Amino acid sequence: MTGTASIPTVGDAESTAHEIWGLDCRAEPLAGEVDRNFLLVARNGERSVLKISRENADRVELDYQIEALRFLERSPVAHFVQRVMPTADGHLLVPYDRGESGRCWVRVLSFLDGSPLVNTRKRPPALLEEIGRNLARLDLALRDFDHPGAHRDHPWNIERTHDLGRFSKQIAEPARRELVERQIERFRHEVVPCFEGLDRGVIHNDANDYNLLVRSDSGEQPRLAGLIDFGDSRYTITVAELAIAAAYLMLDQENPLAIAALVAAGYASVRPLSTAEQNVLLDLIKARLCASALMSARGLHLEPENEYLQISEQPVWRLLERMSMIDPDEATSTFVDACAQSSAPVRNTDEILELRRKHFGFNLSISYSEPLKIVRGEGQYLFDDSGRRYLDLVNNVCHVGHCHPSVVAAARKQMAELNTNTRYLHDNLTEYALRLAGTFPEPLEVCFFANSGTEANDLALRLARTHTGSKEIIVLDHAYHGHSPSLVEISPYKCEGPGGEGLADHAHKVPMPDAYRGPFRGPNSGTDYASEVRKAIAEIEGSGGKLGAFMAESLIGCGGQVIPAPGFLSAASDAARSARGVFIADEVQVGFGRVGSHLWAFESQDAVPDIVTLGKPIGNGHPMSAVVTTREIASSFVTGMEYFNTFGGNPVSCAVGLAVLDVIEKEGLQQHALEVGNRLLGGLRELQTRHTLIGDVRGLGLFIGIELVRDRETLEPADTEASQVIDEMKARGFLLSTDGPLHNVLKIKPPMVLTAQDVDETLQALDEVLSELTKGRG
Ligand code: PMP
Repeated sequence: MTGTASIPTVGDAESTAHEIWGLDCRAEPLAGEVDRNFLLVARNGERSVLKISRENADRVELDYQIEALRFLERSPVAHFVQRVMPTADGHLLVPYDRGESGRCWVRVLSFLDGSPLVNTRKRPPALLEEIGRNLARLDLALRDFDHPGAHRDHPWNIERTHDLGRFSKQIAEPARRELVERQIERFRHEVVPCFEGLDRGVIHNDANDYNLLVRSDSGEQPRLAGLIDFGDSRYTITVAELAIAAAYLMLDQENPLAIAALVAAGYASVRPLSTAEQNVLLDLIKARLCASALMSARGLHLEPENEYLQISEQPVWRLLERMSMIDPDEATSTFVDACAQSSAPVRNTDEILELRRKHFGFNLSISYSEPLKIVRGEGQYLFDDSGRRYLDLVNNVCHVGHCHPSVVAAARKQMAELNTNTRYLHDNLTEYALRLAGTFPEPLEVCFFANSGTEANDLALRLARTHTGSKEIIVLDHAYHGHSPSLVEISPYKCEGPGGEGLADHAHKVPMPDAYRGPFRGPNSGTDYASEVRKAIAEIEGSGGKLGAFMAESLIGCGGQVIPAPGFLSAASDAARSARGVFIADEVQVGFGRVGSHLWAFESQDAVPDIVTLGKPIGNGHPMSAVVTTREIASSFVTGMEYFNTFGGNPVSCAVGLAVLDVIEKEGLQQHALEVGNRLLGGLRELQTRHTLIGDVRGLGLFIGIELVRDRETLEPADTEASQVIDEMKARGFLLSTDGPLHNVLKIKPPMVLTAQDVDETLQALDEVLSELTKGRG
């Protein structure tokens, strides 16, 4: 690209964007300290930033910034930093020769929608903590990143702050000069020796209030929108990140120490600070302030009339003077307290396992032979204590994504306002009941609220019993409906397993409608399975009883991710109703759009239940559940005995439930589940053609099972292979689990925000793992 003018114009930016990036857009000039920046606005409104470097800019520096941003693309802070946009032919940095003036480089970065924090006086504690948390995430993410550019000299190198001491003579006012010189001497002799042994890594190194961007949607508190400008990013002591951010955030604040404590608390909640880091924090904050004061003094010495420097150095001086009056021990203990409040003590795996053995109920297994210590979740990802990212392919509880900001915000807001019970009128309760009921087909319209899937199912049993006058219940083989006595005794998965006492007399099981492995196979087996339900009804009636309920998951989870043979659920529920029983659909695992084609999984099976139970995804991890039934059944339950549930349906839970429904709708997650689910199913079926270990691939939307067999004729279950696959996938950063009566089914039921890219990466990893497994056996 060749420009003619030495200073690039808006026209140059537009033509460069068009010719090299294929972007049809208009450009507007943007401020920039080093680069010449332009905001690009495409016809569809999409925005990006075109950056033209200064002449003869250091290529290593630019490469470094680009590589750092690319590295962060797959990190928990991906949304919080700019993305590098490739040119139409895949380049990230393009030479830009401006005729006689020398070589520049041009790149395009994504636009982060926010304004510099410096413009926002409103800085609530939640925002300060959020800044701390995200800086810690950034530092953890960058721990595995390195580049020659990270080790270059830097005038603001915090570890060499004392080198700037030579400019102290240029501080005009003696008292201020003395203040800085005292601090610099302390830094040289007492602080620098403490750096040995501190954690090091690449950090942003300049999270000041011009580089931190915030956004506040109408009436909402400001939230962090991003962090820009990696121009000062370097490899140094990691805690400098926090110190630098805190120093700028403290400027001109009424209680600067409290501000720093909030940022530190947020930071330490993600990346706990060592004692040495906590002890050095105050000195590092002061060091950054001294550096700023010294750089300004130097600038003013060179340009005494520079009004900008005269004004901008004042807050720094005010803060330095204020800090000199704060007792350092007091300040450090404030930081220590802030960091301690933010989390429980950090223990290693062995200590945790020991404490669990001592103080936890004993009959509880831990996932994976090498347990994971997961410390954070975001979207479809989980992060362990070393900052390693895993794609969570099994957690159907955090349905709209781990820690979805809208759900967290709704909970936080309501929690801070009021939490009571359902005996008071509250808008959240009625609104939630109205919204939830509105998602069901008629005549399902009455809601009861509880706190877990078990509670919902237990209540469903009570509703069915009072309505029909009978306890007799038909369940599917291998079903699991909950952990209370009333449910364990009707759940073959539990009561017929180790430690179980067998099915209760009033419970009758029929085969799972498994068209792959069950007694009836093939696509037309639904009616055969339904006739088993009719047979069970006949047996109940034959011995003088009457059916109370037929209970089944709409799609079968613990039984091995089984999609009922077509026609089964509607025929079986019709049979139950003909016998004056009710059909209870357990949607605890599969509801809220997971199947993609419908919001409720029973709809995908053409069945209408009399009672539906909801749990897991309903609160995205917040403990809540619901039962939805007909007016008629709810009326039968009016016996004089009240149904009151202390926590069920409280205003906080309902706020959370509403937020979950909103997110599903706003983010189009049901349709999304259909699309990415189909992509995954298609890919798995392709793998099935190449890997004989895959006996069956089944699923709807993002509810998927992969059944592994050693022999496609005998269907010999490949259970040890399934465990090996799980471990190998974990080693590659993918979390899966097994289920099914024979422990040979890989189950996939991820947060619904799984992306097409996640799907492709999962398929590639699974392909590799299966190939290696077969190679090993061959
Ligand atoms: N029903 C089904 C289908 C379940 O999978 C579960 C939990 N795995 C439950 C009910 C019980 O839910 P909770 O653990 O929330 O009590």
